[in-house]
Amino acid sequence: MAKKVLKFGGTSVGTIERILHVAKIIKIEHDAGHQIIAIVSAMSGKTNELLKLSKDVSENFNKRELDVLLSSGEQVTSALLAGALTEIGANSKSWLNWQIPILTDGKNLNARIVNMNIESINKFLSEKGIAIIPGFQGISREGDVTTIGRGGSDATAVAVAKIFDADTCEIYTDVDGVYSTDPNKIPVAKKIDKISYEEMLELSSVGAKVMQSSAVQTAMMYNIPLEVKSTFTNREGTKIFDQESIDYSKSVTGVAYSKDDAKITLMGVEDKPGVAANIFEPLSKNQINVDMVIQNISSDHKTTDLTFTIKRDDLSKSLKILKDNKDIKYQNLSHNDKVSKISIVGAGMVSTPGITYKMFRSLADEKINILAISTSEIKLSVIIDESDTVKAIKKLHTVFDLD
Ligand code: ASP
Ligand code: MG
Repeated sequence: MAKKVLKFGGTSVGTIERILHVAKIIKIEHDAGHQIIAIVSAMSGKTNELLKLSKDVSENFNKRELDVLLSSGEQVTSALLAGALTEIGANSKSWLNWQIPILTDGKNLNARIVNMNIESINKFLSEKGIAIIPGFQGISREGDVTTIGRGGSDATAVAVAKIFDADTCEIYTDVDGVYSTDPNKIPVAKKIDKISYEEMLELSSVGAKVMQSSAVQTAMMYNIPLEVKSTFTNREGTKIFDQESIDYSKSVTGVAYSKDDAKITLMGVEDKPGVAANIFEPLSKNQINVDMVIQNISSDHKTTDLTFTIKRDDLSKSLKILKDNKDIKYQNLSHNDKVSKISIVGAGMVSTPGITYKMFRSLADEKINILAISTSEIKLSVIIDESDTVKAIKKLHTVFDLD
């Protein structure tokens, strides 16, 4: 017998038919002798719908009330699922944030789970009950309803797995698991059976969005093994756990890409201390995230060129900041918003020499020009022309034996 946390995302509970299907999945697990705590998201689209209602009242809708409003989506699915389970003869009950309670710290809309009471739910589990907990919601020390950030049901699931000391935390969603690259673009993409937390984080930060990154980080911190699997097929999912337990036969685990980047180059920037700080400080003050930074070595010891990438949405704002700021001096500025970032990710890269060369050579063979490069222990990213994206992913996927 295992204690299992099963989390069902918005699409998995998006219709009554699907909720009835989820109830069956849970009942099968329970009948197999496991203790089950199920975490649910709101029905897909619901949270956005509620958000829109608040905006119709005011763009500055009161935050305390917004949390009351947004958390209602998860209340609906919790009740429907517990009701559906009862209907098929299971003993099930839902608990809301304040009934458990799920204690949170921090601001409305962006609170953080710090603890929860496990007594009554554990008692119910030991009496063969199936407990349903709404994701995304909590309660502050002052007793106000809170929510923990968009996509927060994943974080609730991980927190519940940790605090209830569960044996597994399974994330049910509308895809089979994590893929070696985007299966919609590259049909030969393969489902990854096992992946480390670090690789998962690198893959999701560059586009392969399957789980909320902060929830993966929490799981990594407490070493809670995760499994991402589909609600709609019976296929094995992707297991996510720590690096030491994975046997790497391949150096590269996946190829990720993002197409919403832009590149800015400042030419003829003074080569002296404080210049980079002057450039990046106003950007960070304006919440603009800088991703890659490349500074050329100065050939005349006076000036140098600086290239960096940002999100495409931030381009016009960034250009304005650079042009308006008198502390930032340069001879020329160029920018390109038709770029994309391609990354190869793999914990096995650390122990395999020649990966960098192999990546550059394959791109050269395809006549793809590299505009910028950045590396970390388990990731190698390049910026290329957006029009070369699919060609590059295809080539790298083949070259690193992922097809
Ligand atoms: N319903 C919330 C959202 O849409 C939380 C979640 O689905 O994880 O962000
Ligand atoms: Mg989600």
